[in-house]
Formats: sequence, structure tokens, C-alpha cells
Amino acid sequence: SPVVIAIDGPSGSGKSSVSKAVAARLGLAYLDTGAMYRAATVWSMETADLADAAAVTAAVGVMPLVMGLDPEAPGVELDGRDVAEVIRTTEVTTNVSKVASNLDVRAELKRLQRAIIDQESGPAAVQSGGRGIVAEGRDITTVVAPDADVRVLLIASEEARLRRRSLEVHGAADASAVEATKDQVLRRDQDDAKVTQFLVAADGVVTVDSSDLDFEQTVDAVLAVVAQ
Ligand code: C5P
Repeated sequence: SPVVIAIDGPSGSGKSSVSKAVAARLGLAYLDTGAMYRAATVWSMETADLADAAAVTAAVGVMPLVMGLDPEAPGVELDGRDVAEVIRTTEVTTNVSKVASNLDVRAELKRLQRAIIDQESGPAAVQSGGRGIVAEGRDITTVVAPDADVRVLLIASEEARLRRRSLEVHGAADASAVEATKDQVLRRDQDDAKVTQFLVAADGVVTVDSSDLDFEQTVDAVLAVVAQ
């Protein structure tokens, strides 16, 4: 029967690329919940005042979001527009924790995420031959899918995370590039940790530390947890 794999971790832990690879390898759907918070941020910036929590909640409640679940090409569409690039801009990254700290927004996104997970793992998936889903984020193992078949917390040392983020954002990991990402990464983790648990594994969640693993080794480590 279809499987649900939940993967949480901080930024720079490699969770998105690892989750996509695990889903592709196992023939599963893939859900990037961080992309949903990022899309909610774009939509709120366009249609509401970010400082007005009630307006942001109302905006997210009618957000025309369509998530693509193909791990080889996971799209994000907002009102028919492809926003895959817009959601990764510095402006959005800077504002996303503010939107994610709104508990009404979290409840709404949890509802949407749960519907996608159920669609990919419930009776409808069985009917259509679906094999299940990998969902990744900050609160999937604890809040969105605490009942998942496999739950993994992917962690890495601060040094490894800053190096990876720096490579992603600046295409380099020399001292000055790392320094330029440091404040942003650490502040976002601090803000996110106030509303989600991704720094310490919850009961029953398996920790995978990728600090000293390369990409393939990390994918293999997660696949080994799945095979257990
Ligand atoms: O994973 P990514 O860096 O794209 O996530 C963007 C932001 O979305 C996080 O910094 C966090 O504020 C929020 N988020 C969340 N809960 C999740 C996934 C992401 O609050 N499950």
C-alpha cells in the first residue's frame, strides 16, 4: 500500500534535494511544503499588507495555489503563473518566517498539505496505482504527518549548512560568501524554531546527520531508514 515519508530539517540541511531524489528513486510523489509557505508569502505581498495578520490570513485562505508533485519537475503555480523562481528571491526569503509564524496561516497550509498527502496515499491513490509521497518541511514529522510510515529529521552542522546555502545563493563558499548568508540563515532558523520543531527529533523520528556525507551518501542513508 502507498507509503508516506516525512522529512524535516533546517535550511541548508539538503532536505529538498535529498527528498526529491528519494521520491524519484522510489517512484513517489514529492511535496515541498516550504514552497507553499513561500508562495503564501508572495501572494500576501501582492494582495495584502504583510503587517496585517488578519489580512494575510484572509489572503492565504483564497490563495489560488497549485503544487506540482513530480520530483523531477516540482512546479509551483499561483493564479496560473509559474512562481518557481519568484519564491526563491531574497525578498521572499526575508519575509517568509513572518508569514509562517501566523498560526491561522499554518492551520490553513496544514489542511492543504494534509489533503495532498491523503490524495497520494489514500484510497484514491490505491485506485490509480500511486505509490505514496515524500513530504518535506519543518513540521511534517510532528504536526502535518505524525502518522507517517517513515519520519526523518535531516540535520547538519552549522558550518556544513552555511557552506551549502552559500553555494546555492552565491555560487561560492569562500569566507566572504559564507559570511553574507550567515545572518540570514541563522536568523530564519531562530524565527522558524519558535513555531516548528526541527532542531531536535521528536519521539520516533530518526535523525540523519549529513555533515560528513556527500549528496549520494545522504540519499542512501535516508533510503536505509525507509528500508528498515
Ligand atoms: O524549506 P524552505 O527554506 O523553502 O522553507 C521556507 C520557509 O517556510 C521556512 O523558513 C519556514 O518559515 C517555512 N516553513 C514552515 N513549515 C514548513 C516548511 C516551511 O514554517 N513545514
